[in-house]
Amino acid sequence: MATPAITNQAFAPVLFWDIDGTLLTTDRAGMVAWNQAVKELTGHDFDLKTAIRTPGFTDHQIADRTYAFLGIQPDTGDIARLVGRYEELLPGSLPLRNGRVLDNVREILETLQRERPDVRSYLLTGNTRAGAAAKLTHYDLLHFFPEGAFCIDTGARAGIAKRALEMARLAGPVHHEAVVVIGDTPHDIECANAIGAKTIAVATGGYSLDELQPLGPWRAFEVLPEPGSFLDLLDSLMGAGAAEPESDARA
Ligand SMILES: [Mg+2]
Repeated sequence: MATPAITNQAFAPVLFWDIDGTLLTTDRAGMVAWNQAVKELTGHDFDLKTAIRTPGFTDHQIADRTYAFLGIQPDTGDIARLVGRYEELLPGSLPLRNGRVLDNVREILETLQRERPDVRSYLLTGNTRAGAAAKLTHYDLLHFFPEGAFCIDTGARAGIAKRALEMARLAGPVHHEAVVVIGDTPHDIECANAIGAKTIAVATGGYSLDELQPLGPWRAFEVLPEPGSFLDLLDSLMGAGAAEPESDARA
């Protein structure tokens, strides 16, 4: 029997969250771990900050580009070893820098958890599962995300987005108008487009609003809005209050 609750659940937003530059910044602690892993495995001194513009690339893609920068032709084993060593070093490097959860993120996630349990939040990230877990554990965000789609190879971020959408569909109803990728780079917008999702772009990472706006995100912000405004955004997803019960008037 179709009850109003079930109808609303069918239209409930599904949010796919990027990590670096969107949920948090590690203040380059990840780079500290990366540079050390490169040194251990190749013997080369390496500075990821100056070598590669990393935002939006996946961990495996960064490994591939790192080897290219060093003039090394890697095989898949080399890439897996570099990423694996980085994953091992990352938990120890995170406390070395002054990273933080970005503005309004924790408040939005807490508000969603408290007031909108129908909204499902997942990770959609170029981090590996272990790298993502290390960061979200350190910044106490892991409990907001029951699952996610992660980097597993050097394939395009769009492939991660497709896996994320499949995962969300297995977990519950997904309405195509209510799928949103929240991210800080052109790569996030591209991967949202690849699955027909909307993008909330936020200029708290490696790209400015002027760089993100021309790519046509659904919405773009300097920082994520405070929770009330974020909920209003979600309510506007379906257009003209299509998913709203009539009694749910907002002041
Ligand atoms: Mg990012």
